[in-house]
Amino acid sequence: MVVLSVNAGSSSLKFKAYDMPEETVLISGVFERIGMKDSFYTIKINGEKIRKEEDLNNHEKAFEILMEELLENKIVDSLDDIKAIGHRIVQGGSYFDKTEEMTEENIKKVKELSSLAPLHNPAAVKGIKAAINVVPNALQTGAFDTAFHQTIEEENYLYPVPYEWCEKYQVRKYGAHGTSHKYVSSRMNEILGRYNTKLITCHIGNGASISAIKDGVCINTSMGLTPNAGLMMGSRCGDMDATVVTYMMRSLECTPEEMDTILNKQSGLLGISGISSDSRDIEDGMKIGNQRCALAQKMFARKIIDHIAKYYVELGGCDGIVFTAGIGENSIHTRREVLDGLSVLGVKIDEEANDCRGIERLITGYFIASRAATRIACSVATILAGLIAALLKITVRKGKKIQVVTACTLAFVIEVVHMLLVYITNTNDLEFVIGIYRKVVGPMIVANVV
Ligand code: AMP
Repeated sequence: MVVLSVNAGSSSLKFKAYDMPEETVLISGVFERIGMKDSFYTIKINGEKIRKEEDLNNHEKAFEILMEELLENKIVDSLDDIKAIGHRIVQGGSYFDKTEEMTEENIKKVKELSSLAPLHNPAAVKGIKAAINVVPNALQTGAFDTAFHQTIEEENYLYPVPYEWCEKYQVRKYGAHGTSHKYVSSRMNEILGRYNTKLITCHIGNGASISAIKDGVCINTSMGLTPNAGLMMGSRCGDMDATVVTYMMRSLECTPEEMDTILNKQSGLLGISGISSDSRDIEDGMKIGNQRCALAQKMFARKIIDHIAKYYVELGGCDGIVFTAGIGENSIHTRREVLDGLSVLGVKIDEEANDCRGIERLITGYFIASRAATRIACSVATILAGLIAALLKITVRKGKKIQVVTACTLAFVIEVVHMLLVYITNTNDLEFVIGIYRKVVGPMIVANVV
């Protein structure tokens, strides 16, 4: 069964076709400069990347060409083979807490939320409408960046401003990057082998956000009404004294739109370094002794550390920290700086393991034994204990009775305590061993998830 995922921007359309349920990517690509001069598209198929110039007047035209490519490349025999199209939508407001079918009524709601995401939601609506026109028989669904954060409680999503602002103007925290936080947290749970976990997921890319996730449910996240909240980012300022905005609007005599541009596009790493919003350029700048780059990087890492520490307290501990997105997956330096800053919480980076880019890996030097391995280890331990007991018995025959009684009683007590702890803590053997390990070595497993 072929399923298509699309991400419509104001002048672009990214796509991937999957063979389901295997999730094999059949073809992927992007249409660019839609509605502009010099529009073109690139497709990646069988490891080959092809670029074609084409007039793309609107999203519908892009969809039509996409369908032609799917037919020509024999991804589908007919458009009816495409069973579903999933659309990425940035803002779902308080309406959407999960992926939903894009019915007429739901499309209306997405459109209504445009004031909260003026660059993204109107583009998504265009994409959905184009897809319905071109592939009317496919199920159309919307996956929202905000949906995963809808479980956040009122005390965490409200701002301490007049209460009516939320009621009347929908001013509250919605968060973003929800699909990413959801995926990496469930992947981390798979790695840990359990689901009753406390996780802190760090999506650190050009846009950056951190979420606190308990038992698979998001309890807090760093982005807010808009993505310009929480962490310092590539070109966004993130959290700061709100009065700076009004003070500087008066000082610079600038309009709200101009201030939006400064805070979203000229701040963050770019604003402080004065060089670039790209973390690779910042790292290169640091290597040649650029002090402003060094300062930007320090501030960038500081905000990540602060948020992780805050969520550690909010979660009441933490089983794992996850890094993902461009910087999280690739910047060895940023991960090291952040984890070093968290050493007080018991995080200990494994320098060798951290020396990687774009691969999934545990980077705190923690070895997760498989359940089978733990079982084997327990059996070996039991056999050894039996052998020792047998040897002691021989000694007993020689008259040292007291040793056997002590050894047997001790083994019995240890086993009873072990079983009781496993029962009380509702864990299995592996989790019990991990629990002990954490107490002894450090509380957290940190993974790079791509
Ligand atoms: P994203 O928004 O997730 O695409 O991430 C973009 C960010 O990832 C940019 O700041 C890039 O500099 C950063 N990035 C990508 N590759 C690397 C790398 N190898 N080392 C450091 N940063 C990287």
